[in-house]
Amino acid sequence: MSGERKSKDKPSSSSEHDRQDDSDRSSENEMGFTLESVRNYLEKKLGFYKESEGKSSQSDDNEKVIEDLTFEGVANHWKKNGFKKIVTMVGAGISTSAGIPDFRSPGTGLYHNLEKYNLPHPTAIFEMDYFQDNPKPFFVLAKELYPGTFKPTPCHYFIRLLQDKGLLVRHYTQNIDTLERIAGVKDEKLVEAHGTFYTNHCLECRAEYSMEWMKEQIFADEIPTCTRCPGVVKPDIVFFGENLPNKFYEYPSRDFKDCDLLIIMGTSLEVQPFASLVERANSRCIRLLINREKVGSRHDVLSSWLLFSKGLLYDDGENKRDVAWIGDCDDGVYALAEAIGWGDELKELVAKEHARIDKMSKGHEEVSDEEVDQLAEQLGKLGKTEEEVSREIDIQSASSGAKSLKNADDKSK
Ligand SMILES: [Zn+2]
Repeated sequence: MSGERKSKDKPSSSSEHDRQDDSDRSSENEMGFTLESVRNYLEKKLGFYKESEGKSSQSDDNEKVIEDLTFEGVANHWKKNGFKKIVTMVGAGISTSAGIPDFRSPGTGLYHNLEKYNLPHPTAIFEMDYFQDNPKPFFVLAKELYPGTFKPTPCHYFIRLLQDKGLLVRHYTQNIDTLERIAGVKDEKLVEAHGTFYTNHCLECRAEYSMEWMKEQIFADEIPTCTRCPGVVKPDIVFFGENLPNKFYEYPSRDFKDCDLLIIMGTSLEVQPFASLVERANSRCIRLLINREKVGSRHDVLSSWLLFSKGLLYDDGENKRDVAWIGDCDDGVYALAEAIGWGDELKELVAKEHARIDKMSKGHEEVSDEEVDQLAEQLGKLGKTEEEVSREIDIQSASSGAKSLKNADDKSK
C-alpha cells in the first residue's frame, strides 16, 4: 500500500514503518546510520517521538485481534464479548441458492441466448454506448435475470437479523436482484454498489418508474419507453461507463472507521472498486470470509488489486484478524448463527418469511389459473396465435407477480 512507501520517506510510528525499518537496516547500516538511529536521535534530542507511544502502538498492531483465529474463535469471541459494529459485503454467491444465476459465471448459458443479436462482445450488453444504440439485447437478458419469483436466502435473513439487533452498520452488495430489500434490509442500511432493479429512470427526462412497471414492459418484450418523452427507461443498475451510486463513495470512510467485524460472503473479490472495500476496514476489525473459495489473498493471482495491497492474510504468518469459512454461503451463515446462539431465530425467520412469500404467490396462482383460462378463451376467439396467447398470459402473471413482491417489500419495511 502507499502507506508503506510513505513511511520510508516520512518517519511515523506505524508498525508498517517498523517492519520497513528492518528490511532497510542491512543496506543502510553500511552507510553508518539507520532510520531507527535517526528516530532515536530525534526522540532524545528533540522530543519528536515518544518511545512508549511507538511501542504500544506497535505491540497493539502486531497482536492478533483475537487469540484463536478460526471460525470457532470468532464465534466464541462473538458470544463472549460481542461485536457491536458490523459491516457486511456480498456478491452473487449469496443469491445463487435463490435461483438467481450469476451472469458472470461461464456456462450459465445466459449469453448463449444472445447470439442472434451479434454483440461485438458479450459484455457490450452492459455498456452504455451500446445500450443507447441497441437496448434490445439487454432487455432480453433482463427478462431471464429478472428478480420476481425468487426468495431471499438464509444469508439475506442473517443480514436482516444483524439489522434487527442493531448491529448492522451497513450492507454493501454487488447484487442487483433486490433480495436484500425483499428480506427487509432498510434502504438506509443498504449500499447497492452496482445499482438495482428496484428503481428505473428515463435516460432522457429522468422520470422514475417502479419495478412493477418495468417488469410489465420487460415481460411484454417491449423496449421500456418513457410515457412523457421518447426516452428509453433503464433499470438503475450500473452499466460499464456509469458511476457507482454516491453512497458507495460517501459511506465507507465512516462505516469502516470503527467497525469491529466485516463479514464477506459470496464474492470472488475480483470486481473493482468493490473488492477494495476489504482494505477500508480499520486494522483492528476482524474480517470473516464465508465463501466457496478462499479469495482475496495475495496468492490469488486473479485479484490484480493485490499488487497494491496485502489482501486477506488467512494462513499467512502476519495474519492478525482474517478468518475464512469455506463452503456454501447458506451453510456458513447457519453454522455461524448456530455457533453464536441465533440458530433457531434464523431458521424461524427464514421459515416465516418464506411462508409469507409462498402464501402470496400461491394466492396469485389460484386467481391467475382462472384468469389464464378465461384469457386464453377470449384470445382464442379473437384468432390469436398460440404464441401471442402465451405472451399475454406472461404479461398478466408477470404484473401480478410484481404486485405481490411489491407488497412483500412494503410489509417488511
Ligand atoms: Zn422521459
